[in-house]
Amino acid sequence: MANSGSVADMAAVLQALKSIQESQIQLQEGFVSLSQRMDQVAPPVSSTDDDMAEKGSQVTKTAVASTATVESTTTPTASTETAIQAQKSGFTSRIILTTYPKQIGIVPLPFKWGAPEPAERGPVVVSRSSSTIGRRNAHGGSYSIYFALALASKQLDINHKPDFTNTEPAANIGPFPQWGDPKKIVAMDPWGHLAPWLFADTIKNENVDIRPTIAITKAHMKLPELEESVRAGRLVPDGKICLNSAGELAVTKFAVEPVWYLPGVAERFGIDEGVLRRSLFEHTGGSYPELITRGDIKVFLPPIGGLTVYCFGDPAKMSDEKVRLALRIHDECNGSDVFGSDICTCRPYLIYGIEEAVKEAQNGGSGVVIYFRKEGRALGEVTKYLVYNARKRGEDRASDYFKRTENIAGVKDMRFQALMPDILHWLGIKKIDRMLSMSNMKHDAIVGQGIPIHERVELPEEWIPQDSRVEIDAKITAGYFTTGHRMTEDELKAVKGRMWEDIDH
Ligand SMILES: [Zn+2]
Repeated sequence: MANSGSVADMAAVLQALKSIQESQIQLQEGFVSLSQRMDQVAPPVSSTDDDMAEKGSQVTKTAVASTATVESTTTPTASTETAIQAQKSGFTSRIILTTYPKQIGIVPLPFKWGAPEPAERGPVVVSRSSSTIGRRNAHGGSYSIYFALALASKQLDINHKPDFTNTEPAANIGPFPQWGDPKKIVAMDPWGHLAPWLFADTIKNENVDIRPTIAITKAHMKLPELEESVRAGRLVPDGKICLNSAGELAVTKFAVEPVWYLPGVAERFGIDEGVLRRSLFEHTGGSYPELITRGDIKVFLPPIGGLTVYCFGDPAKMSDEKVRLALRIHDECNGSDVFGSDICTCRPYLIYGIEEAVKEAQNGGSGVVIYFRKEGRALGEVTKYLVYNARKRGEDRASDYFKRTENIAGVKDMRFQALMPDILHWLGIKKIDRMLSMSNMKHDAIVGQGIPIHERVELPEEWIPQDSRVEIDAKITAGYFTTGHRMTEDELKAVKGRMWEDIDH
C-alpha cells in the first residue's frame, strides 16, 4: 500500500509531466504558426537550381526541428533531395507536418454535422489547394492516393477547378428527416450530391474548392443471365423497367463515397472517439496527423471504396411506405461477381437480387440492389486467395470454413455492417418488404437501426453452384437465415468442396 507521502509525490510528478507536455504543445503551435508566417513573407521559389538547393535544405531543417520523429527516420541527404523535388512539383517551400486549431491562417468553414438545413450544416471541405487549405473542415478522400500520384507526376494541377456544368443529379432524392439526424447518418454526406450547387456562393466568393461525394445517373444494363430469364419466362419485358427481350434493364445509379463523422462512427462501434482517431492515425502509417492534432475537424474521408445503389423503377418509390420494397445488400466479390468463379454464391445471389428487384419494380413497387466495395469480407483478395489455397490443400470441409479465414486473418470478417444502414436512411427507406439476403449480420445491423424487415428471402437451391455448398452450409450453420435444414457440426464435416485435381486447369 502506498502511504500518503508517496501519493503526494506521484501527484507532483504527474503535474510536472503535464506542464511539460502543455509547454511542448505551445512551443510546437508557436513554431508551426511562425513557420507559416515565414511562408507568407518568403519570396517565391526561384527558378535557379542553386537557390532551390538552398531552400531545400531550409525545408529539411524546418521539418526536422518541428518533430523528433522526422530526424530519426529521414537522412538529411534524402530529405534535402525530396524537398527539392517537392518544390519542383509545386508544393509550398516548407513541409507542413500538421495543423492545430486556432493556428494563424487556420479558419475552417463553419460545419455542423446533422444540422437539418444545408446552409447551417456547411460543406465538407478537404482540398489542399492554396486557396482552400486553411478553410478545410475535413481531410482524406476516397481516391486521395491516386490524386497524390497525379499531382506528384505533374499530370494534375492542385489548383484545377472542376467544371460541374451538366453534372447535376439525374434523379431527385430527399431531403428526408433522416438527413438531419446525426445518429442515423454517420458514414456519408447526405448533401454530397448537391454540394457544388448548394455552396456555389462559397466556391465563387471565397474561392474554396468544394466537391461532391455522391453522383446520380441513369443507365441501361445488360446481363446474360437476365436474357436467359426472359427466354425462360421468369422475367417479362414491360418496355419500361425490363426493356426488351434481351433483358435490357433501365436503372438509376447512385455512387457514394464514404464521409465519416468521427464521433458518430465511434458511437456506432461503441468505442471512444480518441481511440478511433489514434487507431486510424497509427494504421495508415501516420498519414493523417490531423486526426490527432485537430480535434475540431470531425470529418474524415477514409481512403477506401464506397458503394453504388442500383434502383429499378421510380426512385421516388424507395421512400414510399405505401408500396413494396425488395432489397439486396451485396458486398463485392470480384472473382465471382465479374469473373464467374463458382466457389461461392456471390454472383448467383447478385443476379437473383437484381431479378427479384426488377420484378418488384414491375409490380409497382421498388427494387434496390446496393453494391459495397468490400472485397473478400473487406480482408482483400490476397487474404481470400490464401484462404482458398489453405482450403483446397486441406480437406475443404464446411466445418472448417470460417476457421481457415480466422487462422490467416485473425478475424472471420471485417465488413463492419454497423455503418451499412446509413445508405438506407439516406434513401428514405423506412421498411423492407423482401430482404434478398441470408446474412444475419446485415439483418441485425438494419433492424438495429430501426428499419424493420418483413420477409427474408434465401437463395433458391437451384441457384447454388455445387462447389459453393461449403460456403453456404457453413454460413447457415453459423446463423445465416434459412427456411431449410440447419446442419449440425457433424453433418457439416461431410460437406466437402472440389479439390484442385478434380478440374482441368
Ligand atoms: Zn464470393
